[in-house]
Amino acid sequence: MNDLKLFAANEEQMRRLLEIVSSFSTAIGMAMGLDKCAIVNVKRGKIVDGEHIELWDDSRIPYLKPEESYKYLGIQQALDIKTVEAKNSFKEKYFSRLRNILKAKLNSKALFTSINTWALPCISYSFGIVRWTAAELRAVDIQTRKMLTRYGVHHPHSSVNRLYLKRHEGGRGLQNILMTHYKMVLDMRKYFQSKNSPFFRALCQADESTALRLAKPSIHLEETSVEQLSEEWNGRALHGRYPGNLNSDIILKTESLTYLTAGYLFPETEGRLVAIQDQVVPTRAYIKHLTGQDILTDLCRRCSKSLETIQHITSSCPNLAPREYMERHNAVAKIYHMEITRETGLSLDSRSIYEYEPRRMLENEEYKLYWDTTIITDRAIPHNRPDLVLFNKIEKSVQIIDVAVPADENIGRSYSEKLTKYHDLAFAVKEKYGLKKTSILPLIISVNGLVEQHMIENTRRLKLDSSPISRAQKEVVLATTRAVRKFLTSS
Ligand SMILES: [Zn+2]
Repeated sequence: MNDLKLFAANEEQMRRLLEIVSSFSTAIGMAMGLDKCAIVNVKRGKIVDGEHIELWDDSRIPYLKPEESYKYLGIQQALDIKTVEAKNSFKEKYFSRLRNILKAKLNSKALFTSINTWALPCISYSFGIVRWTAAELRAVDIQTRKMLTRYGVHHPHSSVNRLYLKRHEGGRGLQNILMTHYKMVLDMRKYFQSKNSPFFRALCQADESTALRLAKPSIHLEETSVEQLSEEWNGRALHGRYPGNLNSDIILKTESLTYLTAGYLFPETEGRLVAIQDQVVPTRAYIKHLTGQDILTDLCRRCSKSLETIQHITSSCPNLAPREYMERHNAVAKIYHMEITRETGLSLDSRSIYEYEPRRMLENEEYKLYWDTTIITDRAIPHNRPDLVLFNKIEKSVQIIDVAVPADENIGRSYSEKLTKYHDLAFAVKEKYGLKKTSILPLIISVNGLVEQHMIENTRRLKLDSSPISRAQKEVVLATTRAVRKFLTSS
């Protein structure tokens, strides 16, 4: 027992109640913290001033002054709940914790989990007890987003709805305070009103004024549902492009969202990636056509050939192709190369992907693996240099593996292009070496980390578990974010 509140008709009764509490406390080896006790003396609905009440053992409990309040179960109150003071103190504590979390250098998932489980309860604790208006709670949500923006976690033009969606739905998993309030108040009302006891019934009938207003059969609260948030996110012209592609049939949704569900990115990096996906980074096209600013040109600052859109920067600028795109592409190919050499026993090199340099050719009794090498055939084949070629000498088979990191919109086309591109090579190699089986395995992850539908199957055909998929995705999204940042800071 921590807090106890006693009600009595007069001082004499109060003294008797206190005696009972005191003797009970002594019996169980506890003591009353008299310095924390106070008496509120109420006459005709008003707090009456007084000095103290004398107890049997000469100890005293002071009277609460009319302007003072006390904290009972964490809520400021006097004759009734001190709403204004209580709300201010809840908000103060919430924002101070939010600030501490933002300073703590957590990864993105840990950051949002901490806000939901450590900061939010500072306010949500009062839901159903203290009466909040929708406007007040919305203001707290807005202030929260402003702080996220100040710490670089949330781009000011990124989708607000997405911030509040679950991570496995493509959101960032922040709990919305107004929505939490709605749910908690309704749940508490349901709890009280469904109790089939005379005590609860009387309580419900009498309650006209608490935050729950149990005497009313229904109350009006502003509501936003998760479905509504999701629908709005999908429906927006810019913000909706990423979820539109994400929900396409040719995408593995769960695998595509690993970077969010695992949440390993720094909050700032994740914020930048989300802004890229939401199409709100300040490219020249965005500045000129969406913010309406008068700038000289909307052509790419690097190649001057195309409109400087986010799609152009992330996947089709010829100036970025030789370095940025190549490195991003190679990171994926290297991860698969490393995994294959380990699985086939060709090599046990386990350096980090940045130091890893695949050998042109590795061979053992069973396998032969080529990296970025022209495959010699009897007749000339135009496309004869795939990323990886794995021969299985025992099974007499070959697997042609080629990586692509296309724009989100080009995933499907990219896959079929690879099949067509290497069809002739597969046929020629089969003939030359008298193989029984050939297969072409395109490995496709888009610039924003969307995972093409054949990825699990193709990875399994290489006798690998699915872990290289998420590792490859991580390299891709980091490379995209890095490239965009570098591009925008150049002039
Ligand atoms: Zn360009």
